[in-house]
Amino acid sequence: MTNGGGADQWREEMRLAIDTRTHTTPQVAPIDALDGAAIRADFPVLNQEPRPGKRRLAFLDSAASSQKPRVVIDALTTYYAQHNANIHRGVYDLSEIATQRYEESRKAIARFINAGSARECVFVRNTTEAINLVANSWGRANIKAGDLIVFTTMEHHSNIVPWQLIAEERGARLGHVRVTPDGRLDLEHLAELLAEEPKLVAFTHVSNSLGTVNPVREMVSLAHAAGAVTVVDAAQSVPHMAVNVQDLDCDFLAFSGHKMLGPMGAGVLYGKKRLLDAMPPFLGGGSMIRKVTLDRTTWADVPAKFEAGTPAVADAIVLNVAADYLSTLGMDRVWRHERELVDYALDRIREVPGLVVIGPQDTHERSGVLSFAFDEIHPHDVAAIVNEDNVAVRAGHHCTQPLMAALGVPATTRASFYLYNDEEDVERLVESLHRVVEIFR
Ligand code: PMP
Repeated sequence: MTNGGGADQWREEMRLAIDTRTHTTPQVAPIDALDGAAIRADFPVLNQEPRPGKRRLAFLDSAASSQKPRVVIDALTTYYAQHNANIHRGVYDLSEIATQRYEESRKAIARFINAGSARECVFVRNTTEAINLVANSWGRANIKAGDLIVFTTMEHHSNIVPWQLIAEERGARLGHVRVTPDGRLDLEHLAELLAEEPKLVAFTHVSNSLGTVNPVREMVSLAHAAGAVTVVDAAQSVPHMAVNVQDLDCDFLAFSGHKMLGPMGAGVLYGKKRLLDAMPPFLGGGSMIRKVTLDRTTWADVPAKFEAGTPAVADAIVLNVAADYLSTLGMDRVWRHERELVDYALDRIREVPGLVVIGPQDTHERSGVLSFAFDEIHPHDVAAIVNEDNVAVRAGHHCTQPLMAALGVPATTRASFYLYNDEEDVERLVESLHRVVEIFR
């Protein structure tokens, strides 16, 4: 970067360089249906030369963490090579521009989920931290002894443990919405729990274990009618479908950047401004203050009040690149692509003798997450054998031990699909599962 034309020109050049970087269009033809194979070309991890004798990687574990497109990887390198500085503190150009990009990313993420204001989006590390923020801040200010906190049996541990911790501290009670044998929420049981007027209801939008899509808007509306505050775990929805927080009307919503093509260090807590304004800080330190004296501190406005210390600046800035990549393709197309793949997978996987699909059997109520089990074969053995065929799936309880207990399965094997998967990935999985059955016969 030269400085020949003076500081203003240099600053403008740098701004343009970053603009180009953040608005790189994915190398995909603007056709209606997504072409998983064409999209895959943008993802270096998926295009590595396989080990000798192996076929290309069929990556079916995006529910754990997604792969990153070249634009995201390049944007991270560009940031560290050319623009790295701490934010909100420096008056020099690098710091000012980093600050500006960080705040622009916040605005873009707010648009991505249709938040009313960027101030309603707090950068955190991940979904887990977002939910812990609400439990510690809103929870400490509002939960009293005897109050009821409701969550569901299908939650990820990160939407269970923070509520248990605050309930124990406050002497509050916990209620758990039951699941049906086919892995859907028992909404009648939710209604029964709501009749007890809980303070807060927390639930996942999409189950990471089963792919169940919950009727979030209706659940929020029922919870509000009962006077409860709502927390939506959107870790498995925001990366895969168009999520509109104003339409859902939820009070809080949490998601992780690393599951939506972004870097590992940045996630988002959305919260209605009225609630965030009234909440005490979660962590104290630099950046979240207005004035500090030796005896007393006053807080910065939201969202800074909840962003103590140096944030993951690069990761937060580059999260915008990931969101931009997804938006350019269109979230409705991403969602449709995954639904078509899981539809095909559900059809094909039933050919495998002895395999049982866990969760809703109807594709209209599920996302691109597919869990299954065999009576006689341990899920870890299944995952290890398909790995020999370079098919990456996950096995275990998927951080949902209460759900596994409720369904009476110790663990499942889980295949999860994303925009870069295609029918060939499904066929590779099915082929490999037939081999598993052969081995154990
Ligand atoms: N909730 C759900 C539904 C998830 O799938 C996950 C990640 N598996 C989490 C929460 C936690 O996400 P993170 O580890 O990024 O905090």
